[in-house]
This record gives sequence, C-alpha cells and structure tokens, in this order.
Amino acid sequence: MNIITAPTELQKQCQTWRQEGLTIGLVPTMGFFHEGHMALMDRARKLCDKLVVTLFVNPTQFGENEDLDKYPHDFDGDCEKAESHGTDLLFAPEKSSMYDKDHATWVNVPELGKHLCGKSRPVHFTGVCTVVTKLFMLAQPQIAVFGQKDWQQLAIIRRMVRDLNIPVEIVGQPIVREPDGLALSSRNAYLTQEERAAAPALRKGLVKMAEMVKQGEQSAQAAKAFLQTDYASTLPMGTVDYLEIVDPDDIVPVETITGPVLAAVAVVIGKARLIDNILIEV
Ligand code: AMP
Repeated sequence: MNIITAPTELQKQCQTWRQEGLTIGLVPTMGFFHEGHMALMDRARKLCDKLVVTLFVNPTQFGENEDLDKYPHDFDGDCEKAESHGTDLLFAPEKSSMYDKDHATWVNVPELGKHLCGKSRPVHFTGVCTVVTKLFMLAQPQIAVFGQKDWQQLAIIRRMVRDLNIPVEIVGQPIVREPDGLALSSRNAYLTQEERAAAPALRKGLVKMAEMVKQGEQSAQAAKAFLQTDYASTLPMGTVDYLEIVDPDDIVPVETITGPVLAAVAVVIGKARLIDNILIEV
C-alpha cells in the first residue's frame, strides 16, 4: 500500500491509473478505523481496480466547541487495517496542504442541511461538501462509498454530485453495528463503561418506533413523542440533540407518514455525540 501526503501526488497517481484504463474507488474517512470503515473499503474494493482511502480529520467540518482537537487517532493501526482490506493508496494529507491560508471557495447544499445534523452543526456540511469535492477533484474516482450511518451526509453528497454533474457514482453502505445494536463509530471510544452499556438503547428505541409506524401509526408527532418518552426511561444519561422523522431524500420533516421515511436521532452521552437512523418503509 502506498501512503501519500501530498495532494499533487495523489492527483498524479490517479491520473496515471486512469490513463492505464484502471477504475478508481474512493473511501473518504477521518480515520480510527473500525468495521464500519472496513465494510466501505470491502465494498469499494469489489467495484474498482484501485482503491484509494483518504484519512483526513477535516477541520472545516468541525464547529468551534466540537471535538476536532480530541478526535481519536491511530495512524499505524489504520495503515494496517487499510492495507489488509485491499487499499492501494492511503491519502493522509496535512491540514495546511488541503487548505491554503486564504482558502475562499466553499461548496454548500443548503436545502438539505436545514435539519438534523445540519441544524445543530451549522458549518458541518459546508465543510464536508468542500472537502469531498476536493477529494473528488484530486482522485477523480469512478465510484465513492459512504456509510448510511451518516444518512444526511450521503443524501447531500448524492445531491451535490447530481447538481454539479460530478462524474462519480455514489454508493451507500448499510450501517455496521456491534452485536448489541450500537452503530460502530470512532466516537464510541469516548464512552465510559457505564455509558457504553446504556448506548444500545439508542437503536432499540428507533426499532420500537419503526414497529409502531409499520403497524399503522401515521402521525410523526406521536411516533416522536413515543421515542422521546422511551429514551427518557432507557437512556436517562443522554441528552437528545434531535429526534426527527424526515423524507429520506430531501431531509425535511414529515408530518403524516404515508411513504418511506427516515427516523434519525442524535444523542449526547457524556463526551460523545452519537447518531443513528432507521429507514422505515411503509
Ligand atoms: P468517519 O471516519 O466517521 O468520517 O466515517 C467515514 C465513512 O465511514 C463515512 O462515510 C461514514 O458514514 C462511514 N461509517 C462510519 N461508521 C459507520 C458504520 N457504523 N457503518 C457504516 N458506515 C460507517
């Protein structure tokens, strides 16, 4: 596996591969790999000739009081994992090489960023769209794989790629979970033992609510109230940031559930802000 830090080197290598007729698959990440990241790599590996994984804790997608400086990392461990999952090139740039001091260009999909994480993290998706666009321009991949765990991010990137005619196929990978249902996340490392033991309630509540909707509950208000009450008893140490039922493509809240919806939550437990979601097909 080739490890590259310079953006121009990444661009050069990918251009060479494309000229040789090889297809490129891209998996953008912030590192501290777990099985969720590996599932993305495995998926991409099957769909391309050359697998490029990027490891960059992108500063522009973090707000002022967020965990940019504390974000967990394990570069050597990540290199081993990426290599053992068939990565051809790991791109791990310095912040200064990705953003010039006078960086002035931003990519934004405001319509899809008004709710869920976009509401609580106002700069987040502009940072994500900008860095992902830069990575697309550098690697020019034919496919790129993103996790459904960050459903809103996936929806925004799909829309951005469509609206800007970026020639890349976006692949969504289902959420990888612990045996007890907790979605894998690098931020799970922040949980104390007690918090970790309680955290599966996040998913359990969503599943119960989905069942209620499948059995005929059409009022999003009633379904959300149910989940709020459920979390109050099963996750008393958590503070709900949002708990919402939205259209899965447009990410706007739904009042009456008559078709597929996405139920999405963000809950702060101790030092971790955990997100999860469930697609409810009715
Ligand atoms: P991150 O390093 O957290 O920015 O995540 C990099 C990519 O991995 C994103 O596309 C995430 O949606 C995806 N991802 C993170 N956790 C999971 C998971 N548990 N299951 C599936 N994909 C995930």
